[in-house]
Amino acid sequence: MSFTSLKLSVPLLRAIAEKGYTVPTPIQVAAIPAVLRGADVWASAQTGSGKTAAFALPLLQRLALSRREPGRFVRALILVPTRELAAQIGESIRRYGRFLPEPIKTLVVYGGVSINPQMMALGGGADIIVATPGRLLDLVEHHAVSLAAVATLVLDEADRLLALGFAAELARIVALLPAARQTLLFSATFPPAVETLAQELLREPVRMAVTDQTESPADIEQHAIEVDAPRRTQLLRHLIETRVWTRVLVFVATKYATEHVADKLRRAGLKAAALHGELSQGARTQTLADFKRSELQVLVATDLAARGLDIASLPVVVNFDLPRSAADYTHRIGRTGRAGEPGVAVNFISAETHAHFQLIEKRNKFSLPRERIEGFEPDEFGLQPAPLAPSTGGIKGRRPSKKDRYRAALAAQASGETLG
Ligand code: AMP
Repeated sequence: MSFTSLKLSVPLLRAIAEKGYTVPTPIQVAAIPAVLRGADVWASAQTGSGKTAAFALPLLQRLALSRREPGRFVRALILVPTRELAAQIGESIRRYGRFLPEPIKTLVVYGGVSINPQMMALGGGADIIVATPGRLLDLVEHHAVSLAAVATLVLDEADRLLALGFAAELARIVALLPAARQTLLFSATFPPAVETLAQELLREPVRMAVTDQTESPADIEQHAIEVDAPRRTQLLRHLIETRVWTRVLVFVATKYATEHVADKLRRAGLKAAALHGELSQGARTQTLADFKRSELQVLVATDLAARGLDIASLPVVVNFDLPRSAADYTHRIGRTGRAGEPGVAVNFISAETHAHFQLIEKRNKFSLPRERIEGFEPDEFGLQPAPLAPSTGGIKGRRPSKKDRYRAALAAQASGETLG
């Protein structure tokens, strides 16, 4: 399958070639023809699958075929959960559309920055708006934009939009859109609330699910390393140094932890920075830019701050704190191993979190052998019932030896294979 056979126009093919894409990803193969013919789409796809191009390319092609009415109208609306994702999608669209004969006016709007420049930019309307829901509603209230002519609505990362509490805003926005429109819904997971939303918004959608099949975990080498919680920073340093990780995204649970871990790494001489939601937009943009340019080696982030980060070839992701849910696990490790590039995802498992990690494994139908790093073997596990007790083959009352653990790991792996 090639991009040409997807019936994309020459200017778009040129931009695709310039981006270096040679073959369309599965979500692109499935979505592009459906979007081009105006159908609604229900897509289960995560970041890294190439979903942005899957909706942006056909959307640009359709918009290039007709003109915008004069006034403060918008023709296509892309709603996203975070400002970083909004900025990335806006950037991608500009690149995909740069060779079109008539420019497609694309604006990115999000909160946390002054509204005035966004109001100014909206003068004369726009072809595409990429927006976070709250700021879009502010702009509607200021009469800076009218949604009455939106022909296509895209909900990207719909699960995140709902998880972040945007349900009410979404309902208000949808009420402002024409009933006759095209709707595309992309989500990594489909919890009941997203199913309901999809059922409400989509009409006879073309369904596509590419998450599990294409995001083959084979591209992402996953590790579960047992370590006592207080020694995680030291272990992280050790791994960064011995495995020569040049760029690492480290996930922690709280804003405080981002600062704390980044600070400790900096004091150890590493170029590390924290990324969390309470930094100013300017600071976030700067940190991301430094990381992208490899001026920073380690980025310590919360889930929210790292959501949707599009960093080409991010080789290593570390779950310093485990994610809360199985879906978050998928999102996090999706930061690496993108578009066919190999990646490494490392989980730190402590005595307190091993049961939680087992749950994540069960939900996501995988199972990793537990590893220990020399010099960082945990002590605290001894106080807990052995995590894999039934199959360790260890002597009763004795802590499982390394060999026991290895056997247990193999058994776990084997059962994981039958599960998966
Ligand atoms: P996305 O899932 O949209 O966040 O895209 C993930 C990454 O894959 C981005 O860096 C895209 O530039 C890249 N990408 C998208 N489509 C392709 C393709 N057909 N071939 C290679 N890379 C792609």
